[in-house]
Amino acid sequence: MKWKKNTIRFAVISGLLAIVAIAAISQFLPEDTVISKTPNAPAVQDSIEARTLYGIDIDEYDITDATIGSGETFGAILDRYGVPSSTVYALSQFDTVFDIRYVQLGKPYKVFQKRDSLNTAEYLVYEESLTEYVVFHLTDSIWVETGQREITIKRREAAGVIRGSLYLSLQEQDVSPVLAVKLSEIYAWTIDFFRIQEGDTYRVIFEEEYIDDTIFVGTGRIIASSLTHMGEEEYAFAFMDTTYGTMEYYDDEGQSLRKAFLRAPLQFGRISSRYTRRRFHPVQKRWKPHLGTDYAAPAGTPILSTADGVVERAGYTSGNGNYVKVRHNSVYSTQYLHMRAFAKGIKAGVRVKQGEVIGYVGSTGLATGPHVCYRFWKNGVQVDPLRQKLPDAEPIAEELRPTYLEFMRPIKSELDALPILDTQVEPSASES
Ligand SMILES: [Zn+2]
Repeated sequence: MKWKKNTIRFAVISGLLAIVAIAAISQFLPEDTVISKTPNAPAVQDSIEARTLYGIDIDEYDITDATIGSGETFGAILDRYGVPSSTVYALSQFDTVFDIRYVQLGKPYKVFQKRDSLNTAEYLVYEESLTEYVVFHLTDSIWVETGQREITIKRREAAGVIRGSLYLSLQEQDVSPVLAVKLSEIYAWTIDFFRIQEGDTYRVIFEEEYIDDTIFVGTGRIIASSLTHMGEEEYAFAFMDTTYGTMEYYDDEGQSLRKAFLRAPLQFGRISSRYTRRRFHPVQKRWKPHLGTDYAAPAGTPILSTADGVVERAGYTSGNGNYVKVRHNSVYSTQYLHMRAFAKGIKAGVRVKQGEVIGYVGSTGLATGPHVCYRFWKNGVQVDPLRQKLPDAEPIAEELRPTYLEFMRPIKSELDALPILDTQVEPSASES
């Protein structure tokens, strides 16, 4: 996980000037470029005495807000503010920091003009995105730097009944659908999101990232969640495993939410045909057993190895099309059929990790449309993976368990207390 992003500072100054320039530059280092983001603590802002924006003392400048106009070049904008073309040329040499040819139509920028008789434009700040900006230093030492606005992390809660899909239910509560993706990742091993049902409920405490305290920029980490699926409540609590320095999700008993196997070989898609001893084959037009689970998805969708293992075979047969078989241990193997193509480097003998992309959905071999036929072998016999009680990954380390339980209990109480909102729309009486 990427918690810290570095700002890039660049200055190309030759000869003796360099020493002088560095002393000068250090006064202008933007104060708001530091992102204090750690997994456990919210961002802390130091009190700033001078009123600054992008590290520039705004009391000394007249600031013009504008957006890049149609056909407008960087040079043309600066020319309007009396910046000489030699300066524009010098700025263009910083193309590894930011290439001025690629300013985009509609993006905002600010020009800082000194509050004196000359009204010299000293800085132009171009806003590349909500969080990232570029500062052009137009006088004295000419240089370009990129920075990031400080992100504040806010804690948020949501709870509800799943109607239609988790994605839709979250959207109705004005929660970013990204949260649905994050939840599906956490529960990938324990809950089959392909079988999530109408009426299942969820409670979740999570983080959202804001800039200037008000502008939403993204969904952060999920702190805790519970999903009630088919009458069973599955908890997940984020906990830092200090032994390995990794964040893992554990349930209310300290069991890892990860399993030795993913529930499905695709992140999204739908089950189009389940394992059965008797089905009418859509291509061969006859009754025969279907010993796999078909997941329909658009051609090209990545297919994931459901567990760590070694590729036993990556080949082609007229029935299977392009297929990969992975041996996980002496008991389990899995097989993935009808691939459009193998992922790069996938061949017999290659080691794969759980969740690693091994190929792409296609319709090679006997297939009516793009899907992956997932076959699960246990002791040499094909079985229905959806009916297997699959082994868990490692639980929390025994010496960490007391710490974990103490950490988890108050969060669990908070989670359990969240009222479940049912967003189901009641049929309106006045409807014709
Ligand atoms: Zn199949």
